[in-house]
Amino acid sequence: MAIDEREFFDERQETRKHTLNCPHCRQAAEYELMWLVRRKKRQLPSRADERDRAKFEKARSYMVRRDDLAGCKNVRCRKRFEITGLQSVVFLDEAANARPADVDDDNFGNR
Ligand SMILES: [Zn+2]
Repeated sequence: MAIDEREFFDERQETRKHTLNCPHCRQAAEYELMWLVRRKKRQLPSRADERDRAKFEKARSYMVRRDDLAGCKNVRCRKRFEITGLQSVVFLDEAANARPADVDDDNFGNR
């Protein structure tokens, strides 16, 4: 049986800082956004066949944005706005300028 593509990656939630502009008051501020990060594993499980290996070869680490909305940090605005200036899927080799903020483990949400 072929290996599920999920097994190509180690998956975890990470918070990253981004500068966003509120479309209502146009103020820029730094926001922490949640991403689901899938990092390519170093190795496939040993039961991988040739097709799995070919797919794995092409797979790239990437992350998916979980937050679609941000609440404006300007106290005189405070409106929620849609995050439009950021891609929702980013390959990690293209994301060198998106630095991790605090890193959450798998218990995220259970605090
Ligand atoms: Zn605002």
